[in-house]
Amino acid sequence: MPATCSACGTSPAALRRPKTGHALCRACFLAAFEEETHQAIVAGRLFRPGETVAIGASGGKDSTVLAHLLQLLDQRHGYGLRLLLLSVDEGIAGYRDASLAAVRRHQHRSGLPLHVVSYRQLYGWSMDRIARHLGPRNNCTFCGVFRRQALDRGALLMGADKIATGHNADDVAETVLMNFLRGDVGRLRRGAGAGPAGGEGAVPRCKPLRHAYEKEIVLYAYFQGLDYFSTECVYAPQAYRGYARALLKELEAARPSAVADLGHSGERLSLRSDLRMPARGTCQRCGYVASQPLCKACVLLEGLDRGLPKLGIGKHRRLRDKLQDGQPLTQEERRRLGALAKEEPPEEQVPLGELGRDEELWGKQELRGPRDLDF
Ligand SMILES: [Zn+2]
Ligand SMILES: [Zn+2]
Repeated sequence: MPATCSACGTSPAALRRPKTGHALCRACFLAAFEEETHQAIVAGRLFRPGETVAIGASGGKDSTVLAHLLQLLDQRHGYGLRLLLLSVDEGIAGYRDASLAAVRRHQHRSGLPLHVVSYRQLYGWSMDRIARHLGPRNNCTFCGVFRRQALDRGALLMGADKIATGHNADDVAETVLMNFLRGDVGRLRRGAGAGPAGGEGAVPRCKPLRHAYEKEIVLYAYFQGLDYFSTECVYAPQAYRGYARALLKELEAARPSAVADLGHSGERLSLRSDLRMPARGTCQRCGYVASQPLCKACVLLEGLDRGLPKLGIGKHRRLRDKLQDGQPLTQEERRRLGALAKEEPPEEQVPLGELGRDEELWGKQELRGPRDLDF
């Protein structure tokens, strides 16, 4: 005999909540998930009345659930927000074109305005073209740096006060793990905060689903019948994030609250106050936020435009800095530049340097639907 819903006590239970273990019916699960998201928005003071909020819409489950929930909760609780959809077209055939179609369907159903910014239009390079020049590795590094800026630029164009992204509790826990394992103090300090002040871009960002388990987002989308796109990016996902993700899944199997606990740890970490953080300036070339003379996107573009895409990554940094500053090269450096221009073998393992830390939560392996859930 199927269990009865532990909330209403009348309907048969349709699922066991991954977060709490409670057996709930469909209606009670949806209501609980919506109320928890509302509470997270209120407690984190994520929005103020009258604000224009650009929802980063990838067409995937997280941002689709986020857009659906923000519209619903804004109407239900009178947040007084102006909501917009903002998508980034990286120029990845067979992936982004199909996911953008899902965003457009959402736009038609929801009536929210949609704005699409493309890498081609912003940088002159699509990801497919970058990948042809770069080979199979490091594409996510380029893509992450470019996407961060593209979202900011799109939000500024739309007059948005804030960007809301679909990062969930699993994403946040993975990021805390990864930054901790790397000793990336700067990111630990910036990345874990829930509030609108977090982030390093031009427009403040917030993550209304940061306490929502990925499994529950999949269930919510399923029980709401939301239409989303679920195929992985054609370019290899970030290897290191993959390890952090696998480790998190193991921890979660032993202790389901590990996801929430890690996110909580990230929020509560305090750092020594005398730690020096990089100063915030603006890029000499494009005017975007930067802690160096050139922002990371301009550095990568410089390499691409010179026909030396890997110039922007890790080990060639000193050479790149000299070129940018117009300093004369030594004979050895000229030789290295020549070798670099001639060939960058695709199998070469290029260590991710400073820029490798900038990858975003994209292209990761995704749960595709309730069938993938192990309960
Ligand atoms: Zn119920
Ligand atoms: Zn720049």
